[in-house]
Amino acid sequence: MIPALMPTYNRADLAFERGEGCWLYAADGRRFLDLGAGIATSSLGHNNPHLVSAIAEQAARVMHVSNLYRVPQAERLAERLVAASFADSVFFCNSGAEANEGMVKMIRRAQAHGGHPERNRIICFDGAFHGRTLAMLAATGNPKYLDGFGPEVAGFDHVPMNNMNAVRAAITAETAGIMIEPVQGESGINVADPRFLQELRAACDEFGLYLGMDEVQCGMGRTGRLFAHEWSGVTPDVLSTAKGIAGGFPMGAILATEAVARHLTPGSHGTTFGGNPLACAAANVVLDVLLAPGFLDQVQARGAQLARALDELVAEFPDLFDGRRGIGLMLGLRCTVPVALVQDAAMHEGVLSVTAGDNVLRLVPPLVITEADCAEAGRRLRHAALRVRAHLAATARESVA
Ligand SMILES: *Cc1c(COP(=O)(O)O)cnc(C)c1O
Repeated sequence: MIPALMPTYNRADLAFERGEGCWLYAADGRRFLDLGAGIATSSLGHNNPHLVSAIAEQAARVMHVSNLYRVPQAERLAERLVAASFADSVFFCNSGAEANEGMVKMIRRAQAHGGHPERNRIICFDGAFHGRTLAMLAATGNPKYLDGFGPEVAGFDHVPMNNMNAVRAAITAETAGIMIEPVQGESGINVADPRFLQELRAACDEFGLYLGMDEVQCGMGRTGRLFAHEWSGVTPDVLSTAKGIAGGFPMGAILATEAVARHLTPGSHGTTFGGNPLACAAANVVLDVLLAPGFLDQVQARGAQLARALDELVAEFPDLFDGRRGIGLMLGLRCTVPVALVQDAAMHEGVLSVTAGDNVLRLVPPLVITEADCAEAGRRLRHAALRVRAHLAATARESVA
């Protein structure tokens, strides 16, 4: 019989009772170093006292009022995001997919109202992940995710990443814009070449296209800058973000320049929950932490420390791993044995991780991870690698016998 909770996930048989910083405690007393952070989302770790009290205090005052009224918490959050980024204006929503939908709507509307309604196609990239709504499935373009869900939403073209010739060949009179993850998460922590992003910007300027960036996963401090595109020196026209933005409270945002945002006039787009006082109170606390002097430098330092630990694993276990990827605290360990074996061994050693495409173990810990936690991560992952080796040796012996 089907479980009451719809089985759309292959869940680990683990439930957590509480958390503290980067650690999660299971009901049976075991504790785990959380290097997955709820898929790059619990950016301030677990039970962060400022986040907890801000949410509790806001919940006790007013949780939700709709966007029919002013929301001072949202105004403040938007002003702070604008001050800290390329953007002139921000729209708040509830998830990454919803932010991407809004981003595509903005790009199409800006073209239509700019006199080019025929420009409504978006160029996307192989290996992209943009979410699970019908349009974002088409933008993602992964046949496995599209299977059985009916006609694919029109308007999305796909080309290989880091290949400017392919992009130029794909631009037509119907192209409205380009949508790219500066660091692809889902498909294996693939970093876009900074020069490629610069060339995309130049092509957009040359052909009158809008450059949209999906920073749902790589944004909000994940790479050691507030937004990952900052490493390349180019700015998008519009950007989506979500995951870590409110430290685990569901929220998304679209940041845009005035040239794009001014086309979303009253009534043209909306959301019931988006940017409500509770979500914005949480996100303001996350921004307090991210924008504090030196915090993003810490993210870079911890990222470098964890990257060194992974490089040591690659050197010590060439039979299991063939490379480390990523930037800041968005790291991938490419496995040459099935990544599920490595993830499982890590769980046995008390480390939680996420898998990604291309047989990559994805490590996206809370941004507040400490130096001691990173050192512990390195030790435990080494034990996990030894465990995988022992397991493989035992299976090999069995198959000989
Ligand atoms: C997770 C993710 C999404 C989808 O976000 P949801 O909140 O699950 O809808 C979109 N784009 C990227 C890059 C993501 O990592």
